[in-house]
Amino acid sequence: MEETKVVTGAWELSTFKFNIEGRGLQLMLKHMKDRKLMGIKCHQCGTVYLPGPFYCRKCHIRIDEPAEVSDHGQVMTFTIGYADVRGNPLDEPRIAPIVKLDGCDSWIMGVMQGCAPEDVHVGMRVKVHWAEETTGSLQDMQYFVPE
Ligand SMILES: [Zn+2]
Repeated sequence: MEETKVVTGAWELSTFKFNIEGRGLQLMLKHMKDRKLMGIKCHQCGTVYLPGPFYCRKCHIRIDEPAEVSDHGQVMTFTIGYADVRGNPLDEPRIAPIVKLDGCDSWIMGVMQGCAPEDVHVGMRVKVHWAEETTGSLQDMQYFVPE
């Protein structure tokens, strides 16, 4: 039986500072214009990251081998939000899955549409819904939809 933990209280994500590694992000954005996801693979252990860091988290060596990642994957975990970070109720529940894309070892967080909250489940197959017109920005990858 899996254990469920309920954590109450506000978690102000906007107060955290995220350290994004520029080179791997630039590589990803450049290819997103063509609706491709490009990560970086470790030449020693084969681990693929998206966006790619400049060093392998397992081997602690510099890495720079581009590796294409599928825009299809599976839900590894998810949350369903009923309020924004200030506690204001949302008009519609917001599904935020963490997805492991095929051909990638790291997980990526997004938003899911086209699915009722009660139908989302771990292991669910999903795919990226791309913007109609891509520009090489993070907004090109709009959200995930059921496969
Ligand atoms: Zn490695």
